[in-house]
Amino acid sequence: MNTITKDTQFIAPTYTRADVVFICGKGSRLWDESRREYLDFSSGIGVNSFGSADPEWLAAVTAQAGGLAHISNLYYTEPCADLAELLCKKTGMAKVFFANSGAEANECAIKAARKYGQRLGGAPDGVTCNTIVTLNNSFHGRTLATLAATGQPEYHKHFHPFPSGFISVPANDIDALCSAFDAYPTCAFMFECVQGEGGVNTLSALYLQDAQQLCSERDILLICDEVQTGNGRTGTLYSYEQFGISPDIVTTANGLGGGLPIGAVLFSEKTAGVLTPGTHGSTFGGNPVCCAGALSILRRLDEDFLASVRAKSEYLRTALAGMPCVTGLSGLGLMIGVSVACNAKAAAQKCLSAGLVILTAKDKLRLLPPLNTPQSDLDAGLAILREVLGAC
Ligand code: PLP
Repeated sequence: MNTITKDTQFIAPTYTRADVVFICGKGSRLWDESRREYLDFSSGIGVNSFGSADPEWLAAVTAQAGGLAHISNLYYTEPCADLAELLCKKTGMAKVFFANSGAEANECAIKAARKYGQRLGGAPDGVTCNTIVTLNNSFHGRTLATLAATGQPEYHKHFHPFPSGFISVPANDIDALCSAFDAYPTCAFMFECVQGEGGVNTLSALYLQDAQQLCSERDILLICDEVQTGNGRTGTLYSYEQFGISPDIVTTANGLGGGLPIGAVLFSEKTAGVLTPGTHGSTFGGNPVCCAGALSILRRLDEDFLASVRAKSEYLRTALAGMPCVTGLSGLGLMIGVSVACNAKAAAQKCLSAGLVILTAKDKLRLLPPLNTPQSDLDAGLAILREVLGAC
């Protein structure tokens, strides 16, 4: 039985996969089972920060796997402590909780906000100040709570009832945010600076600064979801740095592990003491192999490297803006949304057939190439895109 037949027979049909079986990769290149080569402008949805089989990441992960792959959170391990220290040093945050995915990082942030809100409301049963306000078009995960936080109703059908205490409002509308805070006993405002799955929509910096002001006046926590935007993807270590805000909680995942599953929740001084022993946990969270891989990524995300991400972004944007069929560009850094006059999904499929792996978000093409994609591979990917869009 070949892989596609076997997958179709035995995997629960939750994904619509493209007709390709990838078997290996190197940097920003991938190969399928017939040894056909592809350029990778997806990095596994912003996960493979340094592409596939990055030598430094591979060495860190294999060395750790050969020593201690797992031990549980009943004990300490060095990679876990080192990664938390580096995250705090680079961001100025005070403490970290490690999870396994973006949704789990957001679940942890939601729990922490609810607990913080309980203190605020003063009610021992926590019925006050428990609402999390999010934005229309946001995406925060697929667990019930993070789906409830996700401001895209099309994801909600089939799964009611959801945990209560979530409301979403239009983005970039400070009056709508203020009205929600007035109407609901709110403990947190949760957002992505660039909405990824919602269509690569960059929020207004002024809006986020006003939102921060509003939140600080009412002691409402600012939770920045950096699951997709974080770890250098947008040209700074975390995207919020470009918006002039300082979140109370930051969640991240995708690019942090460089290819292995890890999520992290960063707590500021204000929120560092909210979660106490027994209030949260994760069997795999802080797994030493994932942390060793993440350390090898995070260590390299220095100012020079981030400047190179911004330069690659400028290069891609200039080239994309001049392409046929392109009607607009959005996003930040190497998280680029491309509005096209044709059907984006069909164009992405044509790119795949022509040897370029590319994503979509809503009705846009979405580019998330590895952060270290060499110039020659940027050019080769752009050439395919130009040809496909020219024929659309
Ligand atoms: N938050 C954002 C902004 C995301 O883009 C995603 C995934 O795409 C998630 C949360 C959920 O992450 P995961 O799929 O790792 O649970």
